[in-house]
Amino acid sequence: MHNRIKEKREQALNDKIKVKYPRIRGMKDILFDEYRYFDLVVSKACDIAKAYGFKRIEMPVLERTELYERTTGKLSDIVAKEMYSFVDRGGEKVALRPEATPSLVRAYIEHGMFNQSQPIKTFWSGPLFRYDRPQAGRYRQHNQFNLDIFGEASPMADVLLILIAHTYFKELQLNVEVQINSIGCVGCRKEYLEKLKDYYKPRLLKAKLCTECKKRIVKNPLRVLDCKEPCCVESLREAPHIVDSLDDDCRAHFVKVLEYLDELNIPYNLNPFLVRGLDYYTKTVFEIWPISEETSDVKLVALGGGGRYDDLIEYMGGRATPACGFGIGIERVILKIKENNIILKSESQNAVFLAQIGEQARRKAFVLFEDLRKGGFNASQSFTRDALRAQLEDANRVDAKYTLILGQKEVVDNTILIRDMDSGVQEIVDFKKVIPELTKRLANK
Ligand code: AMP
Repeated sequence: MHNRIKEKREQALNDKIKVKYPRIRGMKDILFDEYRYFDLVVSKACDIAKAYGFKRIEMPVLERTELYERTTGKLSDIVAKEMYSFVDRGGEKVALRPEATPSLVRAYIEHGMFNQSQPIKTFWSGPLFRYDRPQAGRYRQHNQFNLDIFGEASPMADVLLILIAHTYFKELQLNVEVQINSIGCVGCRKEYLEKLKDYYKPRLLKAKLCTECKKRIVKNPLRVLDCKEPCCVESLREAPHIVDSLDDDCRAHFVKVLEYLDELNIPYNLNPFLVRGLDYYTKTVFEIWPISEETSDVKLVALGGGGRYDDLIEYMGGRATPACGFGIGIERVILKIKENNIILKSESQNAVFLAQIGEQARRKAFVLFEDLRKGGFNASQSFTRDALRAQLEDANRVDAKYTLILGQKEVVDNTILIRDMDSGVQEIVDFKKVIPELTKRLANK
């Protein structure tokens, strides 16, 4: 709550300031305080990904527009309504990356990764651009963290992604639930789409759909399941479930995923209408929702989502390769951490400050500072300042537990002062013993 009030106050202050060149609507600057959350959320994800053997990959922000039109789908909201697409100076139609999967798959194919030993497990973090209606938790530039597994057909791969997501949110102290469904393969979907169209045949029911969905039920019926308009959600009440149309292979795959989740004690909700709105998904689709969410707009609830895309690589010209992946919305996760008032581990832990007085002391301090840094201390300094008072003020600002003070006298005597910043008590120690002494004292703080 406190954070919310602070943010509102800052916003009110910003509103008063007339900025000549303000930032674009829906775009965010990430300032210092916010960056602490950003760092935590991304670095924790990177750490877990590395521990599970995923390797980092980075792709350009700009790709050919066609890449997304052909894969994400021309009828998807992301491509049809939200993509930043333009013609560059060379006459090429390019787009700011609206989602990562097509770009990742392009890289997989272009770098011949199918020639390496499979599976290839990648992690990626970066910005995505969607011209969506901005509001809290929805920006026109947002950041995601994605994990993908290429070349693994086993349901264990789907489960590994869900397990990592679950572990990640648990470590961030966020209570989440997995929403899961299977949309089968092209064959299963064909059968299901006929059933769905039949279900909406009665005029009265079709009349209940929103204007968009009246078109969708003809052109892209699966998207009706994804619509968040209350009238469409209501109309689905008796609709057929896609899992009832799964063939033997898709059914067996889904059953195995659920069995593994049960074994791992990962809470999930079988959500028969979860389809995720993109063209390339096959079999398992899932989203991560916070537990006890009160927001009615489901689009704003999900902290992450993903699924299998077994046909995409071949469709994009590569060798037939099963794959699956998921993305976490970094800003959404930060909002949740703040909403739940979760305290970040203090940056001031083990903080020490090195102050110096006089030219000779400064030279010696440069060397000591490097030793402190290399020794793993959370060390700060203000080498550009001369006055001790100003340096002690800086030490307070970084919440240093101890300040080391090196003056002319200490240089001559080969000693240094250790000042306890809580009590103000200063003691002289042998310069050579300063690091073990500091370690001992910090351990007892
Ligand atoms: P998607 O790529 O649409 O499956 O989104 C994956 C996750 O990214 C979502 O669950 C959200 O947490 C986050 N996300 C998607 N769109 C936005 C957006 N416009 N602004 C902020 N976060 C978003």
